[in-house]
Amino acid sequence: NASVTTNGSVSRILSLDSNNVEILEDGKTINDVIDGKIKELSAVDNEEPFYVLSLDSMLKRHLRWLTNLPRVKPFYAMKCNNTPTVVRMLMALGTGFDCASKAEIQLALSLGVTPDKIIYAHTTKPMSHIRYACNHRVDVMTFDSEGELLKISLCHPQAKLVLRIAVDDSKSLVRLSSKFGARMSSVGKLLEQAGELGLEVIGVSFHVGSGCTGSLAYKQAIADARYVFDVASLLGFQMRLLDIGGGFSGIGDFQEKFEEFSEVINAALDKYFPPGSGVEVIAEPGRYYVESAFTLAVNVVAKRVVADEVDEQNNAERNSPDKAMMYYINDGVYGSMSCITFDPAHSKLEPYLHRAVDSSEPTYPSVIWGPTCDSIDKVTENYWMPELHVGEWLLIDNMGAYSVSVSTDFNSFERARIYPVVTAKTWQALNLSRTYSIIH
Ligand code: PLP
Repeated sequence: NASVTTNGSVSRILSLDSNNVEILEDGKTINDVIDGKIKELSAVDNEEPFYVLSLDSMLKRHLRWLTNLPRVKPFYAMKCNNTPTVVRMLMALGTGFDCASKAEIQLALSLGVTPDKIIYAHTTKPMSHIRYACNHRVDVMTFDSEGELLKISLCHPQAKLVLRIAVDDSKSLVRLSSKFGARMSSVGKLLEQAGELGLEVIGVSFHVGSGCTGSLAYKQAIADARYVFDVASLLGFQMRLLDIGGGFSGIGDFQEKFEEFSEVINAALDKYFPPGSGVEVIAEPGRYYVESAFTLAVNVVAKRVVADEVDEQNNAERNSPDKAMMYYINDGVYGSMSCITFDPAHSKLEPYLHRAVDSSEPTYPSVIWGPTCDSIDKVTENYWMPELHVGEWLLIDNMGAYSVSVSTDFNSFERARIYPVVTAKTWQALNLSRTYSIIH
């Protein structure tokens, strides 16, 4: 049983949204929305790709967070998906935000996020971005080197600093510690340097890597952070913030283990930073909040039948005729699906047909290409599916993480539009009372 206290009126915050959130009345589903959008688009001779964003999905994730990690305040990592509706929804739910740059800070502030709800969590910042943070009273920021301390002392001497440490990221799909984080052997010297520059260090952060598959990484990292707190306290710093970073899975097997991960994290927090120790604990979840909330719809714009590429043995087994398929869709690796190239959690996408498929339809080995001129723009290959026709639509679930925020318009293909939706039940509950509960 979890409850969330919203930050004032959710409808007021979201109604400022130029993306116009659609409220789903009378049992209307996301599939109905997709059907409707496809009809609307074809009526105006348009077949551009689009996403449907489920705010119900984001709310569910938030409640799950609050239930399992009650001591840890989420500061959503905007780099993961900077869609204004996502930011507004989380702002309404009362989360903070992890910003990586001046533009992310600008966006958060322009949407109404207050500076005290922002951590500037990048350890290597351009000086103009640090000055921007200073001018807009964004004070909490991370560092991991002497050079960064010098820059901060010049550009934002009143900053409240968080020392990012390198931790064991070997159990994560995307590793980060080779690039960011001070080694344990250098934290003493760095803290001394901060003291000499008259800077205030208030805490420690780490990131176990994105898509973390082993909960013990958090346990060890929290123990390491305790050590740094002790060193810093001896040097006279008033340490009061622990930031346990991101890494929480949004889909797949490891998101099922969120409860198990939470138990390990809570136990480590209770051991090293017990309640009453005066330490505020935050995290920087990205994909956890948005990955499952976005469904992408793409259109088949071209097709080639390739007779000689068939794997005959596979073919015989599947009782298919003698042909293979190549389809060209209107979104790809340079657009919403760059995750294929850099995100092991998404290296294999599984598009499925929007229309109903009869189980007797034969399937064919298919290559699906993205729209650009480049042959790296391949969405999937040797993928068995029923025959598609030009103009048909494919859907891909769980496309919310590192998709929208990483896409380009290479070849000037339009980026996918985003249509946010929320069920009437969730909408009413969020707006009728400031406290919203669900039973899990
Ligand atoms: N915080 C920092 C500093 C990051 O670099 C990242 C991702 O790279 C995140 C948070 C979000 O990570 P995730 O999406 O795995 O939760």
